[in-house]
Amino acid sequence: MKRIGVLTSGGDAPGMNAAVRAVVRKAIYEGLEVVGIFHGYQGLIDGKMEVLDLGSVGDIIQRGGTKLFSARCPEFRTEEGQQKAIEQLKAHGIDGLVVIGGDGSYRGSMKLTESGFPCVGIPGTIDNDIPGTDYTLGFDTALNTVIESIDKIRDTATSHERTFIVEVMGRDAGDLALWAGLAGGAETIIIPEVEINMDEIVERLKSGSERGKKHSIIIVAEGVMSGAEFASKLKDLADIETRVSVLGHIQRGGSPTGRDRVLASLFGAKAVEVLIAGNGGRAIGIQNHQVVDYDMNEAFDNHEEFDMSMYQLSKELSI
Ligand code: ADP
Repeated sequence: MKRIGVLTSGGDAPGMNAAVRAVVRKAIYEGLEVVGIFHGYQGLIDGKMEVLDLGSVGDIIQRGGTKLFSARCPEFRTEEGQQKAIEQLKAHGIDGLVVIGGDGSYRGSMKLTESGFPCVGIPGTIDNDIPGTDYTLGFDTALNTVIESIDKIRDTATSHERTFIVEVMGRDAGDLALWAGLAGGAETIIIPEVEINMDEIVERLKSGSERGKKHSIIIVAEGVMSGAEFASKLKDLADIETRVSVLGHIQRGGSPTGRDRVLASLFGAKAVEVLIAGNGGRAIGIQNHQVVDYDMNEAFDNHEEFDMSMYQLSKELSI
């Protein structure tokens, strides 16, 4: 292995830049050359890449977003697209590729590995939904952004004695909503992993208000339904008036937290080590405080059960 490539793909996440920096610096430390590929798989197909030196990743550890840009690339889902990508990698003398992204980007990298080109994945998504790792890059930063927003919404909810619905990102995963709801003291948390029970939710809101509770925060993960949809359900079912806040893309931005920067640095360095060892089709992650690499295919085949204990606790603490 003499020359490796690195790209960021799919939804951006805080910490991607710190991971790119770690990949570049660790690879150069180990005597490799690194090529930065711009705009994800699209840029790979189009040959948009350049050699990155130590200085080119200076002053980015603290920045959100990704200096390499990200994109979604329908062409890469086709076999022809993947072949074009491999031709570009060969033409540029690249022997291995680090892909920083979410589960879609991982599936793309598995296709390249299956075609004989070794790829290693670094989990970069605020959704925390990559199997085999306890945390993904960006989750901690997004979590803190959501908590800060809930705290602010709570001020106005308290002052006006209102029920607020806060719509949180997370596609098909409820981690962001659950962690933010627990940390923000939300009364109700609605996530895709737990079947919604409107009667129970209405009952809780009503018994809370009978006890003299004047305000309430409800967190809805976007994968279940929109905040507006949930508000109209509450209105129709029990004539409960609410205000809705959609946090939207602010959740994806901002300077990465210390935790995300440390994880990014650990993951980036590990990805380089795994490629040097000649292993493709591996994912980097953290399990029980240990940085690990594991078989990407297997992780996707054996989807872990959702841990209900935290959800249960959030209910116990918000009665
Ligand atoms: P994320 O990586 O954040 O989950 P996407 O799901 O949009 O984002 O995936 C990013 C890109 O990865 C897609 O635009 C596509 O180019 C590639 N990709 C996703 N799924 C596959 C797949 N099954 N096969 C090949 N490439 C894929």
